[in-house]
Amino acid sequence: MIEKFLPFALPCIGEEEINEVVDTLRSGWLTSGPKTKYFEEEFAKFIGTPHTLAVNSCTAGLHLALEAIGIQPGDKIITTPYTFTATAEVIRYLGAEPLFVDINSNTFNIDVEQIAKALETNDGIKAILPVHFAGQASNMDAILALAKQYSLKIVEDAAHALPTYYKGRAVGTLGDITVYSFYVTKTLATGEGGMIVTANSDYAEHMQALRLHGISKDVFNRSSSNVPAWHYDIIAPGFKYNMNDIAAALGIQQLLKVNNFLQRRTEIAEQYNQAFADLPMRTPYQHPDSTHAWHLYVIQLKLEELHIDRNTFIERMKEAGIGTSVHFIPLHLHTYWRERYNFKPTDFPVALDTYQRAVSLPIYPSMNNADVQRVIRQVKAILQGNL
Ligand SMILES: *Cc1c(COP(=O)(O)O)cnc(C)c1O
Repeated sequence: MIEKFLPFALPCIGEEEINEVVDTLRSGWLTSGPKTKYFEEEFAKFIGTPHTLAVNSCTAGLHLALEAIGIQPGDKIITTPYTFTATAEVIRYLGAEPLFVDINSNTFNIDVEQIAKALETNDGIKAILPVHFAGQASNMDAILALAKQYSLKIVEDAAHALPTYYKGRAVGTLGDITVYSFYVTKTLATGEGGMIVTANSDYAEHMQALRLHGISKDVFNRSSSNVPAWHYDIIAPGFKYNMNDIAAALGIQQLLKVNNFLQRRTEIAEQYNQAFADLPMRTPYQHPDSTHAWHLYVIQLKLEELHIDRNTFIERMKEAGIGTSVHFIPLHLHTYWRERYNFKPTDFPVALDTYQRAVSLPIYPSMNNADVQRVIRQVKAILQGNL
């Protein structure tokens, strides 16, 4: 019997989400409206932050964040090559330059010693943009200390980190601005969407205007009595980055389930950890300072002990009807980044080695125990058969 294909990732959409979307459709509010506002308020409570701004992607949110902290052409921002290109492309939107530094070989998060070295040898660095890889927080105390010492801003790419707690503090309450992704594969899915989080009201006000064409709402708030309702003022060449109420409807219901989702992903991760303990691989390292959101479960194959490479392993999984992925192809290997900065693959040796061994296994709440056992069986069969 051929088993049904088990996808690498699937959103977990129930009747609650469907009903909320239908309610939105019946309401007549399709774009940013009451649901977007409510989703922002509930998200703010969930993180424990004063300001939230719903946007149509994490990429858009990161762009607004860098604009808000005042990034100018030629500025440098320290970030990791072990990420999705969105993290770094937003730096280029503003004519600034990413300064990539290598990752820690255990957490695959940005290596703080490499950040310190870059700060000693480079001028013009204005910010640090860490990514909380797979759902585990970067070394934030060290990053916060360096930011203070060198007067830098911190914008966090928290696309994987909902929810993640660093030394008991929620990611989203640590740096200057934090941005989440609600892309279809993420731990909270609205199809497309994102949320900006900050404790700084000046940044929040600025991003609120830029999120929608540079329209300032304060003009209404400050003199509501003598400004007609149709009037508005443009304070900047803004963007079209607002979230719509259909996406927000999904977000409202997904947020109510986010802790249950985490519980299921954690169970799956624990089953994987146990089952894979004696196989030629490294299971994900768990740093004691951070919880793990388990957006991704990334194994590292011990290629020295195997007769197959990573790509063949993935091919065998696919033949067995199981979807996998690779997080990430480091940015310095991609044409644009390689050519712009003349990178060699070995410029970031830890990122390169991590990439060559990396396989992301399916981990999402709608996987049942049979699905999990099936993944375990196949991984074991392929690896034990190729020792
Ligand atoms: C998914 C992802 C993004 C982009 O999120 P969008 O909402 O699709 O813009 C950014 N950074 C990382 C690390 C991601 O995984």
